[in-house]
Amino acid sequence: MYNYCSVCLLPKTKPYINFDKHGKCSACIFHEKKNIKNNSKNKIDWKKRKKEFDILIKKIKKIKAPFYDVCVPVSGGKDSITQISHLLNKKLRILAVNIDYGIKTTIGHQNLSRVTKMGANLITYRPDLRLHKKILRISFLKFGDPDLMSHCMLHALPIRIAIELKVPMTLLGENAALEYSGSTSINEKKMSLKWFENYASNKGMTPKKFSKLFKIPYENLKMYDLPSITDLKKTHPVFCSYFFKWSSENNLKIAKKFGFKSLKRNAEGTYRSYVGIDEKINRIHQYFKLLKFGYGRATDHACEDIRNNKISRKKGIQLVKKYDRVKLSNYFINDFIKFINIDLKTFTKTLQKYKNKKIWLKNNKQLIKKYEIQ
Ligand SMILES: [Zn+2]
Repeated sequence: MYNYCSVCLLPKTKPYINFDKHGKCSACIFHEKKNIKNNSKNKIDWKKRKKEFDILIKKIKKIKAPFYDVCVPVSGGKDSITQISHLLNKKLRILAVNIDYGIKTTIGHQNLSRVTKMGANLITYRPDLRLHKKILRISFLKFGDPDLMSHCMLHALPIRIAIELKVPMTLLGENAALEYSGSTSINEKKMSLKWFENYASNKGMTPKKFSKLFKIPYENLKMYDLPSITDLKKTHPVFCSYFFKWSSENNLKIAKKFGFKSLKRNAEGTYRSYVGIDEKINRIHQYFKLLKFGYGRATDHACEDIRNNKISRKKGIQLVKKYDRVKLSNYFINDFIKFINIDLKTFTKTLQKYKNKKIWLKNNKQLIKKYEIQ
């Protein structure tokens, strides 16, 4: 068995990842399929998919929906700006939906303001913070993932709003299961209950289960959960990455044209300056991912750059070693513990609790791996 992919740097401890007999991971195999240039059977025909998108848009326009034609979840990041850009100049009434937990950064606010300037309408949904903070606290302490339920809401809420306002299409971002893990046992094009239960809800911890386990009335968690299959059919919840080749670099180029701004320095824990910059909790989520599964944000980015032949595997290893394990700074910790109302001691204890003993050597000060990547 391989500890790391032989092409990129993903470890076998990444959830949902598989390896072929040559040690190549399923994310690399999917990346090749996306980029095949010859006439191989495996090739994804992007021109054909673009036509499919245009046909879908025509169909949606014919419906003559009462308020809006298409709903788009937006964070204000480069990807959501790219999603909107694919809908421009088609005479569509676009409804963008943003969820604001009250922890947005200044640059996050600035980038989000591009959305209305591009020609979309924007709804900002602010959840009840008494409940949301409680959910965050439970998610963090019991699962080591503050974003556990937020991630569900991110996928479910725009679809719920689309259904309530009779918006016939919802253009979601990338199919993360396919893009980052190469999971093929799923519907590539559409959001389904199966997708939601397996990939939006971490390890099947759905809002329904969460509600039962922690005695929070499900009535109050509905906006975190997908509707029933019957209701789901009232909008077309499709992934943008099915129709347009998904690439961080290309999305950044597109978003910049519409005024998207990056940080002036690299974001903490990686060498890129334009990811995870809209809010602060994502950094905590990413750091815990590193503790639990042995890879952080720099690994994600180096893997993408290796697959795109931008850097060598050797250079990727250097970048990962330099950035992945950068200590979580007080800038993130202080705001986070204040937000979810825990003390520093509890935070530090939780860090130790989720440090995977199969991956990391017993050392309280540094993160040293048992099996370093070569
Ligand atoms: Zn790989």
